[in-house]
Amino acid sequence: SSAITKSTKIVLNLESLGSLPADEAGPLARYASTIQAQRHDYNGKVLSIRTEDLKSLAIIYDMSPDELTTRLIEWGVLSPGADGSIYADEE
Ligand code: C2E
Ligand code: C2E
Ligand code: C2E
Repeated sequence: SSAITKSTKIVLNLESLGSLPADEAGPLARYASTIQAQRHDYNGKVLSIRTEDLKSLAIIYDMSPDELTTRLIEWGVLSPGADGSIYADEE
């Protein structure tokens, strides 16, 4: 089943992202830091990104957006959205 609905806000957990191995999380980490720089948004523990950005990232990772979403949840990088519908389990 689909891990995410099209209307769900994508909120990345930057602390979890920073603790992941660079070979896996590297492209996502670079993408997130580029968005932070463009927004001048450096102090957050989380970063809301565009749904369009998830599609671009899925191409980078050679996955479907749903597959990438599942991976982000496994990595603990997806925080609950504004509606609380996505939870990244603490291990
Ligand atoms: P831009 O796309 O021309 O957006 C200009 C400004 O419109 C943004 O300035 C922001 O204040 C507002 N804005 C545009 N779209 C949204 C949105 O979906 N939600 C919210 N809350 N505000 C929005 P800001 O934040 O200083 O960003 C400057 C530029 O940095 C943006 O210009 C865009 O080129 C890039 N950028 C920032 N965040 C993202 C992002 O999450 N994804 C992408 N692809 N680009 C981003
Ligand atoms: P907060 O900064 O106190 O913002 C509370 C709510 O105000 C946000 O709920 C959002 O609905 C609205 N809000 C705040 N700033 C903006 C803005 O620039 N544009 C728009 N369109 N709305 C804004 P939300 O989105 O559920 O976020 C909850 C909290 O999560 C935020 O509390 C903030 O602490 C954090 N957060 C979420 N996304 C980001 C992000 O991209 N960067 C940072 N630094 N923090 C974020
Ligand atoms: P948000 O600010 O609550 O915006 C929710 C949705 O409203 C966005 O989903 C987008 O479809 C639309 N929207 C809001 N502001 C604009 C705008 O200025 N121009 C356009 N064309 N659409 C707008 P989306 O794109 O999936 O973004 C999800 C969240 O990512 C936004 O929630 C915001 O928290 C963050 N975000 C996206 N782009 C930017 C940006 O350029 N700057 C900042 N500061 N935050 C952004």
